Amino acid sequence: MTYAVKEIFYTLQGEGAHAGRPAVFLRFAGCNLWTGLERDRDKGPGGCARWCDTDFVGGTKFRSAAELFATVARHWPDPAVAPFVVCTGGEPLLQLDAPLVAEFNAAGWFVSVETNGTIDPPAGQLWLTVSPKAGSELKVLQGNELKLVFPQLGAEPERFQGLDFEHFFLQPMDSPERAQNTQRALEYCLAHPQWRLSLQTHKILNIR
Ligand code: SF4
Repeated sequence: MTYAVKEIFYTLQGEGAHAGRPAVFLRFAGCNLWTGLERDRDKGPGGCARWCDTDFVGGTKFRSAAELFATVARHWPDPAVAPFVVCTGGEPLLQLDAPLVAEFNAAGWFVSVETNGTIDPPAGQLWLTVSPKAGSELKVLQGNELKLVFPQLGAEPERFQGLDFEHFFLQPMDSPERAQNTQRALEYCLAHPQWRLSLQTHKILNIR
């Protein structure tokens, strides 16, 4: 298996249940809901192509799970502390497979995956964060956290509140209406306490 990786970097996880935790981010190239090209923003099967702000096009090829794992591992600063990797994209489950998860699990890494939920995850020990996107078919109906960008027409929180997740987060959509979206998400959480507010703290802190 060859892996196409956009970038690998060490930072703080900015969102969700692990916000504030130091992590190595492994951003895979490619997504099944958008090509990543500006000219295709209106063509994605999911509505998220219109507001997606992630650059997941291009990057570096790795020839094996062992090679990619070794490169990620070099970014972790302290061998005395259990390492944490966040596999993201794009859509990481286009590429994250059982051999790569096994490399991380065998070395004691805590492996988090941030997926749009349209592709089944591989075998192995994973912390699964599912972020459903309007207009796409949600296949992953259970996991650790469901993190919904809000608001999305056609992906209202009520559609997901009965699924099998430990945590339910609403994350205000980052757009020119971000302040308004944040206020609406805040009010929704107060009225529906199953949901918690997730802020993109890395943007507030102006870090990656
Ligand atoms: S699934 Fe995520 S990475 Fe892919 S286009 Fe939608 S928002 Fe962007």
